[in-house]
This record gives sequence, C-alpha cells and structure tokens, in this order.
Amino acid sequence: MPYPEGNMSPVHRQSDPCRRVCHYLAGFALLLLINTASAGEAAMDPSDDGTDVLEDSILDEDSRASETSVAAEDLLDPGLAHLYMGPLANAVTNAEGQARPLHLLGVDIEPGTSQRLAWSATQLFEGVPVSTPVLVVNGAVPGPTLCLTAAVHGDELNGIEMVRRVFHDIDPAKLAGALIGVPIVNVQGFRRGSRYLPDRRDLNRYFPGNPNGSAGARIAYSLFNDIIVHCDALVDLHTGSFERANLPQLRADLRDPDVVTLTHGFGAMVVLHSKPTVGTLRYAATMAGIPTLVVEAGGPSELEPAEVAHGVKGIETLLTTLGMTRRSRLWGDPEPVYYRSTWVRANNGGILLSDVSLGSTVRKGDLLGSITDPMSNARTELRSPYSGRVIGLARNQVVMPGFAAFHVGIETDEASASEEEVKVVQKTSDSGYVDGMSE
Ligand SMILES: [Zn+2]
Repeated sequence: MPYPEGNMSPVHRQSDPCRRVCHYLAGFALLLLINTASAGEAAMDPSDDGTDVLEDSILDEDSRASETSVAAEDLLDPGLAHLYMGPLANAVTNAEGQARPLHLLGVDIEPGTSQRLAWSATQLFEGVPVSTPVLVVNGAVPGPTLCLTAAVHGDELNGIEMVRRVFHDIDPAKLAGALIGVPIVNVQGFRRGSRYLPDRRDLNRYFPGNPNGSAGARIAYSLFNDIIVHCDALVDLHTGSFERANLPQLRADLRDPDVVTLTHGFGAMVVLHSKPTVGTLRYAATMAGIPTLVVEAGGPSELEPAEVAHGVKGIETLLTTLGMTRRSRLWGDPEPVYYRSTWVRANNGGILLSDVSLGSTVRKGDLLGSITDPMSNARTELRSPYSGRVIGLARNQVVMPGFAAFHVGIETDEASASEEEVKVVQKTSDSGYVDGMSE
C-alpha cells in the first residue's frame, strides 16, 4: 500500500468536527446560489419549460440522422482514429513515481494540496466568458489521476452532487494520486435546465472536438485537451433522460480489459455492457487510451438522495480499490453484477402507468405496466419478455407507440455480457437505439 502508517481512519476524521460540517455548508451554499440563479432565469422566461422538452424530443427523434452527420464533420478525421488505437493504458494500475506538482489550466497544484480552478471553454453571445469550476486534489502520495465529470447533459443533477460529496470527503494529505472533478461540464445547458447546448446540440456527440467546429465541438475540444488528457481513468456521471430513470448502473465496454478492471473497482454495482456511441466523452477518452466508465443513476432534473448516495459509495469504493484512499469500511460484498438487457416498448399510445419500480425483480411474463387510451379506455399491458431486473423505466406519462418504457436487465457473467447483448436486441427490435438513452 502506498500509505505511510497510522493515517486516515473514520475515527481520525471525526475528531475534527468542523471539517465535514463546514464543507457541507459551503457546498450547500454553492448549490443554493446556483439554484437561485437558475430559478430566477426560469421565472423570467416562463415559456422555456414546456417548449424545451417538446423541442428536445423532436430534435432527438426526428433529426437524429442529420445531427449525427453534423457531428461527424466536427470530429477528428476518422482516418486518424487508428492513431489512438492499440493497447489501452494500464496507467490506472501501473501509475508509480514521485508525487509532483500537477500542472492544470495554467496552475501548478502542489502535492498534498487542493484547489478550485475555473475552466472557460467558450463565451456567451454577449462576449462574456462562461467559466465552470474544476476541483483538483493532488495527493501527497504518488498514484493515478482519476477524473470525474458531471452534467455533460445540463439537466442531469445527481452527478453534480456526487462530485461535491466525493471531493469534500478527500484529505489531500492522505490521497495517493490526484482527483480532478468537473461538476458542471455543460454550464450553459445547466443554467437553462436543459440537456442540450443553447444551439440545441448534444455536447456528448462532439468529443474529442474540433477547435474550428461548432460551439459543441469547440467546448468538447477545450474540455478534452485542457483537462481530460491529464486523466489516467475517467468516470462520466449521467442520469436517464426524457422522463426516464435508471437504477444506478455502470455503462462499460466490456471488450476492453482496462474498462473491465475499472468495473471491478466499483464494488456491488450493476454493470451493463454498452459500446460507446461515437462522439461521446466515453468513446473519445477510451480511444485516447484513458479507460472510461459512465455511471447512470436516477433521472434528469432532480436531486435524488438514494441514487446520489449509491453513486458516491461506488466512486469511493473505486478510490479505495485503486489504492488512492484507505477506508476501513468497504462495500459489503464488492462484486459487480453483469447484465445484458432489452427494452420493452409501448405498442399503443396513451397513459403509461408502471406496476414495477426501479430494481424490481421480474419473471418472464410478469406485468411491467399498462397503457390506457384516455378516449376509448382501452387498456394494453406491457409484460416482461425475460426473467430479470428492471434497470430503467419511464416515469408515468403519456406515451406514443414505440416509446421505450421499461429496460429489463438479464443477469449474466462478465465474459458473455458483451456477446449476448446483440442476440437479445435482435430478437426484440430491429435496432438497439433508444432515444436519449445512450449517455
Ligand atoms: Zn446524460
């Protein structure tokens, strides 16, 4: 273990009563400040709420093809992609050497210290710079650099709170390696309460970005080159989208051994194999040799305490299994559970009401929910095609035919999770694509 003797224990931490309490108060004050600002903005523009969701849905479902083609132009020349291929970094498990100053965003952060920096990728149209905080803890002991990003989609709030809690629980003097956190990547979307950038684009389709491309491509380029390239591993925090919520879970490309190693570190988390979509931060970072996982927890536009706590516990377990922190209390049974999955879609339009909740165990044929036509009162039932567990579901709402309503995970072993997903998808639908459900 890289730690000197006689350091951090929970008892030791509690001996300084102000430390934890003061950090919490400071964090809440910050959140309150941000929320007040957002509320004020929303109040000034009452039309933003209703139209935003509608337009977002239209953009996502109808212009997906054109959006993808625009995004492709903003990405690096695909011909260059092979330069990033080859064996992925083992930096996470192999990082060794001297603790040294971390140079980030023009600032040197000395070992054993923490700093709050500001990253500014772009300007508002008025010409005023928009900056967002970057939290850095450079440990006193050598080790890997782990990065956390949240709110790449501006309406996904749970990850913001996860980053805050993880950082305010870290003592730089006891940390091995460095922790870099960007709690609000898409600050413009966050201020509007929107998943997207102000130009309606999904920032998470533009990585690794282009300094001469669209606004999204430029922001992506700046984040990637100013911050992400300094990471040995990355955890990108998301939630479900469009009124859907996810059981806390990891999205991981299980064909990549370094990514599999990271899933082991998280402890008792649900792991779903998922090939990263081109242009996502996960895709670009992994291609650049930085193994990356996505945590999906809960739904958008809410702060959900149980989901936040689950995510924090997973990240803190990862810090311990990577040897970056030492805690006396690990997750009870730190075994990840691997799933392949299938979506159950609505075949009729109407009012969707769930009969299950997130995490429910279901048998093949069990009732998941029903859709009732509000005019004819005709009711159709949605039943599970497999025995498994509900790992994602739509909140009760009015749906159209084809709407992906329930995500059923089928437990499997690590080795076959990535292979068998394809078979399941082929049996149930012509495409695995679910609007907005890729991070
Ligand atoms: Zn997201």
